[in-house]
Amino acid sequence: MTEKLSEERMARCRAVEENLADIRARIARAAEASGRKGEDVILLAATKTVPVEVVNHAIRLGVDFIGENRVQELEEKYDRLERDKCQVHFIGHLQTNKVKNLVGRVDMIQSVDSVRLAKEISRLSVQRGVNTRVLLEVNIGREENKSGVLPEALEDLLGEITGMPAISVCGLMAIPPICEETERLRNYFSLMAEYFVDIKRKKSDNVAMEYLSMGMSGDFEEAILCGANMVRVGSSLFGRRQYPAR
Ligand SMILES: *Cc1c(COP(=O)(O)O)cnc(C)c1O
Repeated sequence: MTEKLSEERMARCRAVEENLADIRARIARAAEASGRKGEDVILLAATKTVPVEVVNHAIRLGVDFIGENRVQELEEKYDRLERDKCQVHFIGHLQTNKVKNLVGRVDMIQSVDSVRLAKEISRLSVQRGVNTRVLLEVNIGREENKSGVLPEALEDLLGEITGMPAISVCGLMAIPPICEETERLRNYFSLMAEYFVDIKRKKSDNVAMEYLSMGMSGDFEEAILCGANMVRVGSSLFGRRQYPAR
């Protein structure tokens, strides 16, 4: 049984290597088509459900950003992750009472969407003597059941966080709705890029608009063409997610 598993895992690692080469090539093509270079776009591996051995294999292959989206799963993997060679980001929906598990432990929280959450991140960062870098998640498709701040509330949220100690906004993140038509998808990505550029131009304290994190397995090239400089790729890299039986 153990043997079979490890063989399966080895096969998975080989697949990751091939997938990674393919994704890097596609990122480079899209970056070049938008007047940039492949290395201008960060590939963040979305690692939910992926065993830590496979994640570490990806890190050894050169993946230097990984993102987890559940606090509990991050906790389970954290000590075994080869973190010296990569940044660990939190990319999922975050409850205020879980902030304590992340501050001082992750390199970035990509999913800040409320004053309440930001306040708690700031409070614990001060208490622990660290600075926490965050992205603001925008609910670009105005979907009712999705996290993210609504576009019209973005500036206010940014203004509030600017005044808080030990938290710095480094950019924006979005997960647009699933779109049948590329045109509609492109509109969402482009709108995000507009907000990103607008805020960057205004240059306020505590705000360094560095990252525009958007695009996943199904649409990362489209996102890059619209201006994304960080894409979060899971299933294209690691294969279809196998959710453990609970
Ligand atoms: C899972 C996840 C991704 C990656 O999704 P894929 O479609 O598997 O590439 C990206 N961003 C977030 C926030 C995720 O939870």
